Amino acid sequence: MSAIAVAVPFTVPPFTDEALAAAQRVLSSGWVTTGPECLAFEAELAAHLGQPHVVSVASCTQAIELSLRALRLSPGAPVLTPSLTFCGAVAAIVHAGYRPVLVDTDETTLTPNESTVSDAVARAGRPAAMVTCALGGYPVDSAALARAAGLPYGRIVLDAAHGPGGEVGRADRATAPFATCLSFYATKNVPVGEGGAVATYDEDFASWLRAARLHGMSRDAWRRYLPGGSWRYDVPEIGFKANLTDLQAAIGRAQLAALPGWQRRRAEIFARYDAALADPVQAGALALPARHSGHAMHLYQVRVPRRDDVAARLAELGIGTSVHFIPVHRLSGYADLLGPGELAAVPVTDRIADELLSLPLYPGLADEAVDAVAGTLTELVTQERRAS
Ligand SMILES: *Cc1c(COP(=O)(O)O)cnc(C)c1O
Repeated sequence: MSAIAVAVPFTVPPFTDEALAAAQRVLSSGWVTTGPECLAFEAELAAHLGQPHVVSVASCTQAIELSLRALRLSPGAPVLTPSLTFCGAVAAIVHAGYRPVLVDTDETTLTPNESTVSDAVARAGRPAAMVTCALGGYPVDSAALARAAGLPYGRIVLDAAHGPGGEVGRADRATAPFATCLSFYATKNVPVGEGGAVATYDEDFASWLRAARLHGMSRDAWRRYLPGGSWRYDVPEIGFKANLTDLQAAIGRAQLAALPGWQRRRAEIFARYDAALADPVQAGALALPARHSGHAMHLYQVRVPRRDDVAARLAELGIGTSVHFIPVHRLSGYADLLGPGELAAVPVTDRIADELLSLPLYPGLADEAVDAVAGTLTELVTQERRAS
């Protein structure tokens, strides 16, 4: 097989000129940590998601942990989570002092469905809370899953690290999750490098979080240093060091402004991959997950037999891919924690885990690169089928 002309990395974070200018603006302003840029970013995210309160934090992992802590469940309380998620989302449950209970995934959407949630409840008993995940950008129906779990909507934490974009993270007051958690990690739809945020309708939770993310101090440093501000503060409840900085927030504001254009480009790339992969899909050599009109298009995932061989061959040919995710129950530390009963509880996840492959997808990906990736993958899976 002929090597392709240019290497195609799995991801390249786009940074706009406005993001560079914003970083310079903050660095020369004299105030770089949590302050006015964070407040403005939070307001812009709130407007984008249509939720009234957004609090910026250091990461999505912190966002999930602090949201779970705010629920004040009893120590060891069972919290449902997909196994097919990023390990950090499950670490958040553990660090909050609770017990993760695995939910199997739907073979078509790659997210839990009402029946896998009911199965988990039948196996492990009534949960105290649930973390749902919009895997790949699939706009998971958190409210329907809450009903299947027998939980009020206020006990749901949505891991929206694969949003924003599409409908991911948008919610009506009546059915909104307690917390919607975002990530600004380098690979995500709004890349900053690192960072996170929580969106909520719950005003008390938002004000608790504003203090909790910064040591629990009753007044943050920016307000204390404002003209006429006082150095005095109290710590009514011991908090965490999980604040976002103004440097990150200013970059995030510029990046968020570019999101609509990036999402249009992601949609074009999705359509181009779909068309270019139609033959192997038709032939059964490759399968695509289910789509939804509100998809945030964070990942272009395929299911391919002998995934590890295919990924290795693509890497040799200069094409980067990734896997979302190694199910947490296959990571040794989590396997030890979960125990044998849980490890046997997610058969669909186990069946598809060795087939999932994420193809290069980012706004700067050129049409020729999409064609090269799809063409190379088609050749490889066709050869694999002939060989087997
Ligand atoms: C990236 C990611 C996270 C963690 O985000 P951070 O901001 O890096 O903490 C959580 N869940 C999912 C599904 C992710 O992809």
